[in-house]
Amino acid sequence: MALIVHKYGGTSMGSTERIRNVAKRVAKWARAGHQMVVVPSAMSGETNRLLGLAKELAPSDNPTDYFRELDALAATGEQASSALLAIALQAEGMPSVSYAGWQVPIRTDSAFTKARIASIDDARVRADLNAGKVVIITGFQGVDPEGHITTLGRGGSDTSAVAVAAAMKAAECLIYTDVDGVYTTDPRVVPEARRLQTVSFEEMLEMASLGSKVLQIRSVEFAGKYKVPLRVLSSFTPWDIDIHEEAKSGTLITFEEDEQMEQAIVSGIAFTRDEAKISIIGVPDKPGIAYKILGAVAQANIEVDMIIQNISKGGLTDFSFTVNRNDHARAMELLKTKVMADLGAPEVIGDAKICKVSIVGIGMRSHVGVASRMFESLSAEGINIQMISTSEIKTSVVIDEKYLELAVRALHKAFDLEQNQA
Ligand code: ADP
Ligand code: ASP
Ligand code: MG
Repeated sequence: MALIVHKYGGTSMGSTERIRNVAKRVAKWARAGHQMVVVPSAMSGETNRLLGLAKELAPSDNPTDYFRELDALAATGEQASSALLAIALQAEGMPSVSYAGWQVPIRTDSAFTKARIASIDDARVRADLNAGKVVIITGFQGVDPEGHITTLGRGGSDTSAVAVAAAMKAAECLIYTDVDGVYTTDPRVVPEARRLQTVSFEEMLEMASLGSKVLQIRSVEFAGKYKVPLRVLSSFTPWDIDIHEEAKSGTLITFEEDEQMEQAIVSGIAFTRDEAKISIIGVPDKPGIAYKILGAVAQANIEVDMIIQNISKGGLTDFSFTVNRNDHARAMELLKTKVMADLGAPEVIGDAKICKVSIVGIGMRSHVGVASRMFESLSAEGINIQMISTSEIKTSVVIDEKYLELAVRALHKAFDLEQNQA
């Protein structure tokens, strides 16, 4: 008898019919002799709906003014879906109980809207499991040291599930979603994308951090740190398929490189529209400038992604960097009001119509010419590259947002990632 954690995403919990289906599937696993902990997301669209209501009533344009309440509000979505699942399980004749994050408790820091899990107390959950109940724990939320409800950032139920699995030393954490695994790229953008049977932890970490929202990045980090066996699979298969077949379906995140993975130079393509670029034109090229600009940005708690500084002409240079699109307006305002005068720089230009496209693959470590193949393929499509950044197993480019789909499709083809390839 193993302890298994299941996580069901918003679409999988999207209607009472789907919740009933989830309950039947979970009951099947429990009846097969497993101790079951289930972490659901809010029903699809619910988190957006709640946050939209808040926006209508917001006291200011700055959401940080009411972050605490946003978390108290958004957390209700998971509380509802969890209780509904417990009811559906009971209707299947399966004893079950649902807990909100604070009831477990899942303790976090106090960073509202992007809190980090500090610890999980599993005593209550274990007692229920030993009493033969299926335990349902709300995804996406926790409680801070002062007792305030916190949330873990969008897509955070993945992280709740993996953290619960790590804390309870579960045999496996299964992430059920609306696709049947991790694909070479988002199958919504490239229908020819191929499902990966396995993906290495490192590649999954890069894919998630570069925009593949199939798993929230923190969930992959947790899985790596605590070596949680993690699988992504479909919740849309018939609930009564053979449990052994189900347990082997989808994509397994692996912690060791095997031969098959070595073969693929590029395993996947990730992209994100969540970025914006800021360029400061005509900055004096002297020591301390990068610190003046980026120090002020960091102090405002704005994360910077890519950075480019060009060589100087006549003692002046241009300095560009990217930030999350949500922080773009705030970063522009900060530079204009606080930093520009100090720099004596004439112009700051913002561009929120950009995107970042990345190729990811462990094989890039041992192969040269991969990045140039990427640039060649983009140039063949007439796509201008605005910024480039590389690491051992990825190359990312910033391009005009309007070319996103074109670029992803071209690269998918250029690196032979289609379904019927090896
Ligand atoms: P859930 O609500 O189950 O958490 P998400 O919408 O957060 O589901 O994540 C699943 C979605 O991730 C898929 O529907 C797919 O469009 C998208 N996605 C992006 N990149 C990938 C990828 N490489 N493989 C599979 N799905 C991907
Ligand atoms: N409901 C939250 C969201 O929509 C968390 C999740 O679904 O993982 O972001
Ligand atoms: Mg998700």
